[in-house]
Amino acid sequence: MAIDPQAEITELKGVGPALAQTLEKLGIYRLIDLLVHLPMRYQDRSKVLTIGQLRSGDEGYICGQILGSKILFGRQRSLEVLVGNNSEGLGGDIRLRFFRFSKFQKSAIDNAKYIRAFGSVGFVGRNLAMAHPEYKTFDAEPGPPKAELTPVYPTTQGLGQQRLRNLAEKICALPWPQQQGTPFEKLIALHQPTSLAKVEELQQELAMDELCAYYIVMKGRALKRRQQQAMALPRADGLGRKLLDNLGFNLTSAQVRVVGETLTDLESTTPMLRLVQGDVGSGKTVVAAFAAIRAVEHASQAAIMAPTELLAEQHFHNFSNWLTPLGIKVTLLTGQMPAKVKRETLAEIADGTAQVIVGTHALFQDSVNFARLALVIIDEQHRFGVHQRMILQNKGNFPHQLVMTATPIPRTLTMTLYADMDVSVIDELPKGRQPITTHTVKEDNREKVIQQVTQALAQGQQAYWVCTLIEDSDEIDAMSANASFEYLTKNLPNFRVGLLHGRMRGDEKVTIMDAFKSGEYDILVATTVVEVGVDVPNATHMVIENSERLGLAQLHQLRGRVGRGQVASRCFLLFKPGLSQAGQHRLNALRQSQDGFYLAEQDLKLRGPGDILGTRQAGEQSFKIADLAIHAFLMPRVIKRSESLMNAALGSDEHATLKGLLMTWAPADHGHLTV
Ligand code: ADP
Ligand code: MG
Repeated sequence: MAIDPQAEITELKGVGPALAQTLEKLGIYRLIDLLVHLPMRYQDRSKVLTIGQLRSGDEGYICGQILGSKILFGRQRSLEVLVGNNSEGLGGDIRLRFFRFSKFQKSAIDNAKYIRAFGSVGFVGRNLAMAHPEYKTFDAEPGPPKAELTPVYPTTQGLGQQRLRNLAEKICALPWPQQQGTPFEKLIALHQPTSLAKVEELQQELAMDELCAYYIVMKGRALKRRQQQAMALPRADGLGRKLLDNLGFNLTSAQVRVVGETLTDLESTTPMLRLVQGDVGSGKTVVAAFAAIRAVEHASQAAIMAPTELLAEQHFHNFSNWLTPLGIKVTLLTGQMPAKVKRETLAEIADGTAQVIVGTHALFQDSVNFARLALVIIDEQHRFGVHQRMILQNKGNFPHQLVMTATPIPRTLTMTLYADMDVSVIDELPKGRQPITTHTVKEDNREKVIQQVTQALAQGQQAYWVCTLIEDSDEIDAMSANASFEYLTKNLPNFRVGLLHGRMRGDEKVTIMDAFKSGEYDILVATTVVEVGVDVPNATHMVIENSERLGLAQLHQLRGRVGRGQVASRCFLLFKPGLSQAGQHRLNALRQSQDGFYLAEQDLKLRGPGDILGTRQAGEQSFKIADLAIHAFLMPRVIKRSESLMNAALGSDEHATLKGLLMTWAPADHGHLTV
């Protein structure tokens, strides 16, 4: 009889409570979870290398004659087995080293003639060696190895590779249900594949399943949300009109469209969940301001959450400028405020005096109670996890949510990954923006760059000088902010140099940023803390030291700090000679394009979307099988198939497939990356 895939993992023979607890660390609770704990890669043991072919640092499979073994009594007792090459006798010998071994093991090796071993190759002194390889002994010279791939699983403390392999073998041997549309056979095949081509094929089929399950869960969430009641915020006092008149610039037509989409959402009792995507500098903040005004017009509150203290301060500054003249009370809440100020602020938030509240993570602490929270705005949403957004959401009675991101994601991806949201795109920069000319420069030519920068400074413009380290490091050979600050201070006596980095106190950072903004510094040496959101239109030059150490998306974000005013801007990407190929591609892409969407696509090609989506930072789980760098092209099919499955009649085959997909890939509603 077939097993129940959802049965507890302890149903598997040999899995007791202790092992079950260890398995939980890998997200394995049920039988099916172990089956979808798939190999992250495979070792190819279909080819045996001669010793002459081995290179230090490689993983290799060798086969040879056992020439002898001895126990070494060093700091740690070890067993050393000397192995000579078989067949042609090319290339000498290799030492296998075991630090944990039994008497039985030693005698088994001594009694055998040949050994096959798999492990990483290194040197001990001048001798080739393998430390605790996996091995098998033979009495006679073995034939060629089976053409099979050995799975390598993600492990965890207390559960090593070999034990996981045994568990995987056991789970695959269970009688899984065999109805049509179930993925079990394919999953089993991925644990024991015959070729890498087969792996790829299976991965693609299963990725399709997984992405469909993900899409369906997202759509399900959207449906659930739509059944909730939020506060309807219809058109009211016309404060928005006043802001428009006071702004001092005209909105771009993209901004007008997105403001319109947002305000229309707010008119409804259906809780809004809208993602605003817009490249750096496209003007997302002011869109948020219009939404916040709408909440205030209905005697309720809007909260704006930013990922850094610096950005919260800057938003507070902008929102105050825009909204205070309209009679709106804007308040700032950060973690670093003095206790007394904080108490007062919390009281204002709780009694409703504070109407628009700008803050950092501090906003979702327990002590924060809103009088009447109607709208939550999350800036740079990729910096936050789902969980954090949920907490803030729970502080209101289904508040509307507006999330903003400068991370451009190709459209087909957006439609799937953010299937639970409505998406608006600000696909236009404000008029009069100057293009940014980007130069890639070997770091030896730093002096020339300094010359060019100082010419701009002499005309009253400002510059950022970005470093990837705060202080010099023994491990990393890169220019530090401290060293650059010293160097520039000494060599440019006519200019005022500021220093900003992440290890400074929050208020210090804000003071320095304000000073830069008001022109008290000509150059700001900074770490990547200036990456998000910082807005100083008079800064026209940016130098990025060791740009080879940063990702494409991050470099694009950083560069977006210039090109915000009326004067042409330049960005110098300094790099260390000897760039990797990917590094060259990255820097070239940046030199050639300023289009965030294009760069995102390049990035996707170069390294996969885990980083693009920022899921790593948010510490969230990503897909088990689907790799968007490889499988993004499946998206249109994913959407089509999912929609069809969701519309299937109860009891139909399609409906059974849907249930199977969800059971396999989306067990609980908390797994995948999402916002
Ligand atoms: P981002 O989308 O990167 O968050 P911001 O909202 O910080 O961009 O806007 C960047 C700068 O552009 C700010 O100084 C903002 O006041 C200004 N800005 C926004 N919209 C316009 C516009 N339509 N015309 C001119 N400047 C604008
Ligand atoms: Mg912004």
